[in-house]
Amino acid sequence: MRVLLSNDDGILAEGLHVLRRKLAEIAEVYVVAPDRERSACGHSITVHRPLRAQQVTLDGVAGPLWAVNGTPADCVKLALEALLPEPPDLVISGINLGANLGTDVLYSGTVSAAMEGAIGGVPSLAVSLDSTDTTLLPFAAAFTAFLCEQVLSRGVRPYTLLNVNLPNLPPTQIKGVAITSLGWRRYEKAVHRREDPRGRPYYWIAGEIRDDYGLDGSDVAALAAGKISLTPMHFDLTDYRLVEQLKTWDLGVWLGPHRRVSNGRPPVEDSPGEPLA
Ligand code: MN
Repeated sequence: MRVLLSNDDGILAEGLHVLRRKLAEIAEVYVVAPDRERSACGHSITVHRPLRAQQVTLDGVAGPLWAVNGTPADCVKLALEALLPEPPDLVISGINLGANLGTDVLYSGTVSAAMEGAIGGVPSLAVSLDSTDTTLLPFAAAFTAFLCEQVLSRGVRPYTLLNVNLPNLPPTQIKGVAITSLGWRRYEKAVHRREDPRGRPYYWIAGEIRDDYGLDGSDVAALAAGKISLTPMHFDLTDYRLVEQLKTWDLGVWLGPHRRVSNGRPPVEDSPGEPLA
């Protein structure tokens, strides 16, 4: 098994190295990670300055580790297209110290690194721990290694990723594993206004979480119930229910009578002015 490991907490993060050591028991592990913490940078990529990938020496050995002066998505892009000798069987991002649930996946660098792997056609996992307690990392790493073997032996649909979140609990208190959908993580007082020493305002984005536990089967609800959450995800954000509704709007009428091709129906040749339902 060949694994590409990345993260958004940076090349020095403990979560990355605990997982790297565990995965090395079952796989050939390549690490390509940001040279500093890049949490909450979402899926951004670097296109206006050069990217450098510096090979890192660990324990006196020049390992297959690269530190990149870019984002998590940059790291996976570089790894898949330029750095790795052969494509990996899996892309894994983590282990992040802090959960990535619900709407937060859109801001998450951890999830975006795995998403970039999925876009590259490689089965991918994003792994996050709902804690900053590093003593919980070895269990999270062992569960991730188990999951890697499951994904490879059973197979998953191409172009998907699994978003994994582990609760802030010692292993003996974890209640189980839930297969979930993305919940809705909301924040109160997300923007704090303060003043600098010259009296000018500045802002911190740092809200208090106000979760919606009412969403049955969501990742948020699973973690609140003390379970490990596994959410299968895709980069297709289309709302398919709204596709059907919008087709009934017949917006092609605005282009004039000869271009009213919509919904796969034949062009409508009559005059504009047909009432829009
Ligand atoms: Mn992070």
